[in-house]
Amino acid sequence: MAFLVVVLGPVLLGAVFVGATLSAIDRSRATERLGLAAAGVRTSVDALCQQLRAAADAVAVVADPAARPRAADQVVGRGLAAAVVVADPTGRTSYATAGPPPGPWQDCAGDRAGPAGALAARVRLRDPSGADLGAVAAAQPVDPAFVARLAAVTGVGVTLLDDPERLTTEKAGVRAAVLDAAGEAGWNGVAGTGDGRYVRRVGPSSGQPLPLVLSVPGERPAGRYGALAASVALAALLAVLAAGRLARVTTRPLVELAGAVDRVAHGDLTARVPLRSRDEIGRLAGAFNRMTRETGGYVAALTSSRDQLRNHLAVLGDTLASTHDLQRILRVILDSAIAATGARAGAVLLLDADGVLVGQCVEGLAGRWPTGDPTDPATLRVPVGVGVVGAVAATGEPLRGRWSPPEVPTGEPSCETYVAVPFAAPEPRGPDRPGHPPADGDPPGPPGGALGVLALYDRIGGPEFDDDDLVTLRTFAGHAAVAVENVRVHEEVQRLSLTDPLTGLWNYRYLRESIRREVERANRFGRMLSVLALDLDRFKTVNDTWGHAAGDAVLVEFARRVRGVIREVDLAFRRGGEEFVVLLPETDARGAAIVAERLGAVVRDQPVPVEGHGGEPVRVPVTVSIGIAVHPDHAAGGRQVLDAADDALYAAKAAGRDGYRLAPVPDPVRTQEIPVVTATVTPPDGLPRAGAADPAGVAQGGASSGPHPPRQSRGR
Ligand code: GH3
Ligand code: MG
Ligand code: MG
Repeated sequence: MAFLVVVLGPVLLGAVFVGATLSAIDRSRATERLGLAAAGVRTSVDALCQQLRAAADAVAVVADPAARPRAADQVVGRGLAAAVVVADPTGRTSYATAGPPPGPWQDCAGDRAGPAGALAARVRLRDPSGADLGAVAAAQPVDPAFVARLAAVTGVGVTLLDDPERLTTEKAGVRAAVLDAAGEAGWNGVAGTGDGRYVRRVGPSSGQPLPLVLSVPGERPAGRYGALAASVALAALLAVLAAGRLARVTTRPLVELAGAVDRVAHGDLTARVPLRSRDEIGRLAGAFNRMTRETGGYVAALTSSRDQLRNHLAVLGDTLASTHDLQRILRVILDSAIAATGARAGAVLLLDADGVLVGQCVEGLAGRWPTGDPTDPATLRVPVGVGVVGAVAATGEPLRGRWSPPEVPTGEPSCETYVAVPFAAPEPRGPDRPGHPPADGDPPGPPGGALGVLALYDRIGGPEFDDDDLVTLRTFAGHAAVAVENVRVHEEVQRLSLTDPLTGLWNYRYLRESIRREVERANRFGRMLSVLALDLDRFKTVNDTWGHAAGDAVLVEFARRVRGVIREVDLAFRRGGEEFVVLLPETDARGAAIVAERLGAVVRDQPVPVEGHGGEPVRVPVTVSIGIAVHPDHAAGGRQVLDAADDALYAAKAAGRDGYRLAPVPDPVRTQEIPVVTATVTPPDGLPRAGAADPAGVAQGGASSGPHPPRQSRGR
């Protein structure tokens, strides 16, 4: 718009100036012409009057009144006047030439009286004495021919106001406009008509008594203003086109740029600006496009990494909340830590009982493995205090930096950069959760009670791990510590719920579970399972004699001896009171008898030292009776085989205690009673007899005679 104003303003001003100048020139030239024409009119009328006066004089000089008509006719005949009238002193016409013009006649020298039919000059007739003899008047009619002559002489249009309809040279079409303009022009003034004519009033005045209007057409050619207007229009058109082009070249890219910036401000990073030129605006647009493209790339990368992190956190949260599977938790923690820091590889190591950090789960360490099998994380072993992770576990301080290969192998993975943080057991909270005092025999733990180390190796796309990575890793290490501790606490609670607090043996609950599992396993693999039911002999007496505390000490010592006798795969349970059960997987009656023998001996041979009443040490002799049953020889189900062992135990009690009995092989047809042996009989070979080997159903082994003991309740 500013461009249009700047360009079109001067053009319009110039056009107006040129138009005004043209019309001023036109007007002044018309005024000039009308002035000349007015002078011409005056001269013509004056000449006519003089001619008429001369004609009248010519008649008046004729002294003889009788000859005057003839002279008058001659004057008319010569064309000096249109008519001559001779009047007597009273004013009466004495002679008039033929066809006088209509009246009234306007005297050339007289004042204007009104519309005139002719112009006349009068000469008084006087005798030599000067007496008035009348007058001679010569006249010329004021008619269209007269007006036409005036117009011919002056070269302009002439209209006589006395009868403008008839006495005019102007065409009927323009006459009204001419007369209107004549009214405006006033006396001797010049005015213009609407159609470009100029009009001037002339007379009446002395020497020219006719009211005339002179008119000339303007000299401005009709096409000139048209051409002027056309050139202005053309200039305007060109200006508009140029303005449009300018707007396209400058304004439009700016508008597009502003729109794109606006879209970016509203978060639309796909906004691009079309590149239309190579000028500054084009460069600006290019830079803008580059900027939004790269910002979009960054945002996409950030979004995807945020999503990734969110997923990892969700998985981490779910895993921490829903599982006590330590391996799975550590795997998720390691994967999340690697994703959060952009590491190539990593490992979680836990401290074992010997003070060695052992790999629990590893990632991306295939080419970096120190020694051993890279597919088995447990072959990654670093003693506390050795290498980077060993130092971290020993000091409890995180480490990061660039790795330099050690002279002596440390058992650590090789890498370029590393970051390692320890994770320690969370401090117990509140007075009701005191920490456990370290038990005797525990390996000396590192400061801070580190549970393990989380280590990451070789950061992707970055020179070294930085402090931010360290902070992130500490978070994950915190999770790991909580998870490990939770799992350990969970395992401890589970262990406690399945063990007997006094003796540390498995309890009755675990016995039921174990016997079911072991029977199932034995069934599946076609193996045997021996069950030993143990009951301390006359234990009530121990309590009654030395007190319950001494009785408890005996139970603890008994349990310790049982553990010492059986294999690692065997399971010992305290069923309740002074009753115990031992499960011997993959053991037949013969093997079970050997174990029972050994158990009896280990209890019998060493009286148990306890504190008696008053604190003095006493040695309490203890014996145990044992009943043996074997799956599948004696019973098919876990419960039944336990019952069979119980029955055998009663048999052993009945046989006099401090011995063992093997359950009889059940007779599929008739119910078989367990015979009571009255005396201890040791077979010649000293080995137990199982099942059918003793058709009488009497087991060998140490047994003493006595009453059949009452059946005890099982469990608590
Ligand atoms: P036997 O089995 O040889 O027939 O004689 P017994 O004296 O062992 O017989 P009984 O089974 O009737 O007695 C079991 C005794 O064990 C009763 C109780 O005084 C004692 N007892 C059971 N549980 C515990 C325990 O946890 N601690 C102590 N000190 N004694 C217990
Ligand atoms: Mg008992
Ligand atoms: Mg007993």
